[in-house]
Amino acid sequence: MLGDMSGATTPAPGRLETVRRFVNTLDVDAATDALATPGDLVEWLTSADLLDDAGPGVGAGPAELAHAVAVREALRETLAANHDGDPIPAAALAVLNEAAGRARLTATLTARDGWRPRPSAGGVDGAIGGLLALVGDAMADGTWSRLKVCVDDTCRWAFYDESRARSGKWCSMQVCGNRAKQRAWRDRRAESST
Ligand SMILES: [Zn+2]
Repeated sequence: MLGDMSGATTPAPGRLETVRRFVNTLDVDAATDALATPGDLVEWLTSADLLDDAGPGVGAGPAELAHAVAVREALRETLAANHDGDPIPAAALAVLNEAAGRARLTATLTARDGWRPRPSAGGVDGAIGGLLALVGDAMADGTWSRLKVCVDDTCRWAFYDESRARSGKWCSMQVCGNRAKQRAWRDRRAESST
């Protein structure tokens, strides 16, 4: 996502927005990562209400940070697959299932929404499990398939596709959509001049 234009991207409904914000802690275009240190991770998870920083086992080290970043990138691959309704790529699936195991995700009967995954582990592992539980909730309520990442390889910003046909490709028509159109126009012009 270019510069400070995140406002141009539609937020996801409800707590799915937390998952979108997690994926967007890496700004591919600007090459900035909000999860640069274990302390950043704890702070982010706490501000997202996934971690109680007064609770036990909230400490994070390089291993927890590497785990969180691996989950984030597996989620990005999963959102890329949502464009064509493709299955979750095998490598991403393995990372997410490993994270679910560490979080001890457990099917829990909820008062209104049936059986939903909930983490039994505490600390950072449990907090990552809380994110995966939000993914499970969104899959159950049908909003998950609209969460995507921009198809522009230099962007890959997570956005919620509100289009009726579920055909949105770019995080923002004004930025990445236009960039793609201009590229296509230049390619056509180059072809017609040869
Ligand atoms: Zn984009």
